[in-house]
Amino acid sequence: MDLRINLPESEIPTAWYNVMPHLPSPVAPPLDPQTHEPVDPAALAAIFPESLIAQEMSDQPWIEIPQPVRDVYRLWRPTPLVRAKRLEEALGLKVKIYYKNESLSPAGSHKPNTAVPQAYYNKQAGLRRLATETGAGQWGTALSFASVQYNLDCTVYMVKVSFEQKPYRGMLIRSYGATIFPSPSDKTRSGRAALEKNPDHTGSLGLAISEAVEDAATHEDTNYALGSVLNHVLIHQSVTGLETKSQLVLAGEKADILVGCVGGGSNAAGLFAPFVPECLDGHGPQMLAIEPMACPTLTKGQFRYDYGDVAQLTPLIKMHTLGHSYTPPPIHAGGLRYHGNAPILCQMVDSGLVTPQAYYQKEVFEAAMLFLKTEGFLPAPETAHAIKGAIEAAKNAEPGQTVVFLYSGHGLLDLAAYDAYLSGKLTDYEYPDAEIAEALKSCPDI
Ligand SMILES: *Cc1c(COP(=O)(O)O)cnc(C)c1O
Repeated sequence: MDLRINLPESEIPTAWYNVMPHLPSPVAPPLDPQTHEPVDPAALAAIFPESLIAQEMSDQPWIEIPQPVRDVYRLWRPTPLVRAKRLEEALGLKVKIYYKNESLSPAGSHKPNTAVPQAYYNKQAGLRRLATETGAGQWGTALSFASVQYNLDCTVYMVKVSFEQKPYRGMLIRSYGATIFPSPSDKTRSGRAALEKNPDHTGSLGLAISEAVEDAATHEDTNYALGSVLNHVLIHQSVTGLETKSQLVLAGEKADILVGCVGGGSNAAGLFAPFVPECLDGHGPQMLAIEPMACPTLTKGQFRYDYGDVAQLTPLIKMHTLGHSYTPPPIHAGGLRYHGNAPILCQMVDSGLVTPQAYYQKEVFEAAMLFLKTEGFLPAPETAHAIKGAIEAAKNAEPGQTVVFLYSGHGLLDLAAYDAYLSGKLTDYEYPDAEIAEALKSCPDI
């Protein structure tokens, strides 16, 4: 039996899967932040190309992947589905564990799966530049890689605390040719307003989003690109779930439990989506969405309309949220520190298709260490949440069952987090209920 289930290049999917038409209840429409009326798609045209706006609202189950996108996907796709045999042996369980290895992309994570088509569609629409935000730097890396594939300029607003603590991501982004500003910056009104209030502001993802959206909205030749949350992002990420389905067939396996970590929801939903029809027929896998205890959006947030950013520039979206005003504790899994979540994934949670679970930082790193020592690869701190979830799922599974998790990225640029773990400096944060209640007050009354 092969440990790595590989597909030939010809098996890169030719269409993305859109789960929206299959969900038990429809995804609620985004609302205008001022009028609270459904957003006019034309208003989104200031920052997104029409092709992506159409995907955002699409009721088509399959969306063709353009050949120039598949040509770039070929640099690393299809990714292997790997049997974690040595991890299984260390756990001493009679449960099979597979992981879909998305860390093998040029940027080292699943994010290029959507960065590439987003850059492509913007180039097709005649744009010259993309503006975006990045937290830990994974998305900024992915978009700067994708932009250079299609000769687009790229401006990245990087949360200042990450920019200072994780210099290597910034260097990689600049190496791809992108321009990077620590956020809050003096380049936008939102940034200047934040700096006026507090010159030592360390930034937040919500604020960096405000800066990037403002940059795109105020420049004719520039659009905005988001690395998670939105429907079109989740549609692009379905390549991982589609490949996984084919690979399971090839291996003669059936997944009993699927596991993904959740920041904005894109990697988990990308893996889950193609399995939803069989779940609705009653013979699909259990699906687990794993988040940090420090940012318990799905386990402790409310399912309601909220802003996507601090400056309240984005449309209101119906999602599980902790309130857009909240500042998450500084855990090392920077990619999981977002107050909201993808509406598609939230709808799956609300309808009971997906079960959310939260874990503490230290137990997550312990899981990462076990994976590192058995399987050899160093996971990103975000990915370590999925590993923890998969290990716990395996412990609770019946002998002979199969767990599949999405390995969202490597941790080779997150070594400072491992240093903190090894020197006993990691802290377990929990977001106190009282603070959640306070932050939820920032949600609009809808
Ligand atoms: C960004 C990121 C995540 C979280 O984002 P999702 O949209 O929830 O997938 C998880 N893992 C890695 C490695 C990331 O870069």
